[in-house]
Amino acid sequence: MYWHQEVTPEETAVERAVEHSLNRLNVSSKRYWGATLYHPDNLPFEIENLPDVFTQFRRAVEKETQVWPAFAIPDALPALPPKIGAGEVSRGELPTLADLGLVARPLDPRGVLAFQGGETQAFARLQHYFWQSDRIQVYQETRNGLLGADYSSKFSPWLANGSLSPRQVYQEVQAYEQQRRKNDSTYWIIFELTWRDYFRFICAKYDRRVFYKGGIRGLSIAWQQDWPRFEQWRVGETGYPLIDANMKEIAATGFMSNRGRQNVASFLTKNLGLDWQMGAQWFESVLIDYDVCSNWGNWNYAAGVGNDARGFRYFNIAKQSQNYDPDGAYVKHWLPALEQVPSPKVHTPWTLQPAEQKRFEVRLGVDYPNPVVDLQKSVAVNERRYQERSHKKISSPVIEATLYTTPASQYICKTYFLILKLAFHRDAEVRHVVTSYI
Ligand SMILES: Cc1cc2nc3c(=O)[nH]c(=O)nc-3n(C[C@H](O)[C@H](O)[C@H](O)COP(=O)(O)OP(=O)(O)OC[C@H]3O[C@@H](n4cnc5c(N)ncnc54)[C@H](O)[C@@H]3O)c2cc1C
Repeated sequence: MYWHQEVTPEETAVERAVEHSLNRLNVSSKRYWGATLYHPDNLPFEIENLPDVFTQFRRAVEKETQVWPAFAIPDALPALPPKIGAGEVSRGELPTLADLGLVARPLDPRGVLAFQGGETQAFARLQHYFWQSDRIQVYQETRNGLLGADYSSKFSPWLANGSLSPRQVYQEVQAYEQQRRKNDSTYWIIFELTWRDYFRFICAKYDRRVFYKGGIRGLSIAWQQDWPRFEQWRVGETGYPLIDANMKEIAATGFMSNRGRQNVASFLTKNLGLDWQMGAQWFESVLIDYDVCSNWGNWNYAAGVGNDARGFRYFNIAKQSQNYDPDGAYVKHWLPALEQVPSPKVHTPWTLQPAEQKRFEVRLGVDYPNPVVDLQKSVAVNERRYQERSHKKISSPVIEATLYTTPASQYICKTYFLILKLAFHRDAEVRHVVTSYI
């Protein structure tokens, strides 16, 4: 059995458990590095010396490293092992969703694309985006869009689950540049895939630190865990249309644009001052393109605890709304309550006078929420909080435990570690990896 290896602790623990089970069945297995554009053996530095600034990484790989060609698709696969071919050993059946106790959720027609899984669909999307629609040609200008199938490539779900290789995308870009046109847009899609590589190598370098509250920089910021406030963010009821529309989109479809992700992450951490891990976990649970390293790496970055040494930076939500959704088409798409509100005011519904609310058929606080915080004041409070603690590195211990246990005693062990944490250090991070059940 062969697979592309992962780098993060839970995923590699699963790999080890699978290997262990295969060994017991006398089935050989091998992991390969395969998820990135650049191969780690080809990097101009060892992973432990990976630059902490993306630009340094990008310049070095662009200058000194080649992207290896993707393997050609074989015309035919070798025959199945004789025992399986002869029916002596069952091929097994792939479980259906129903077997797993799950119910398929119908696609939401408001979504950017009717995503369908699998390699055939991934290649069809590649064909569409490059050759049929030529949209790759204007990628750099459109990539910050919010609405519609073609403002960006939408390759991420297929890249995340391995149906599409970044090296294949790279090859397609080369072919497109030779046969049609080379421009900043054709370069930029590779630039973005380099970010994707970077976060994976960062995870390999920092191991589990990417999941810690202090992030890879180990900063001891006093993040709040205000669950009712978090809930308003999660369900899209903050009173800021750009944030709410994006949060409705991700909940309904599992997808959100890159511009949207940056804004909602900034709002959660810099306006609401909430623990960035809560946001990262919500994304992890709902994204159809969930990729451990891209998600947690980007959240580290957005919260100011990752690969951006510039400290407290935030998105001005009002400005972003005007720049990226000037006519309000995106927010109206997801927030029907604001349908009648004309474009300049649709991003600031709290400014509507009672007569306007009547005319535009929206009652503030009833049909659409009032803002949960003041944009400027909340940023000021959270910036102060950040600056107070950003020079303090977390020195708290990390209690790590690898549990080899039965499912029942797992809970006893976890409780024991929790008591340890409370007894010794409230700030300690307790991490347990359930490696296998005895
Ligand atoms: C808080 C946050 C969480 C994110 N979580 C994920 C995640 O779980 N999975 C994921 O694939 N992307 C994640 N991203 C990155 C980015 O938002 C998505 O890759 C992108 O929106 C997917 O749409 P697309 O394929 O049309 O992107 P395009 O703009 O067409 O880009 C092409 C490809 O480049 C890669 N890429 C683009 N931007 C980034 C980036 N900032 N970081 C890493 N790779 C990038 C993706 O593989 C993408 O498919 C996250 C970004 C933020 C800010």
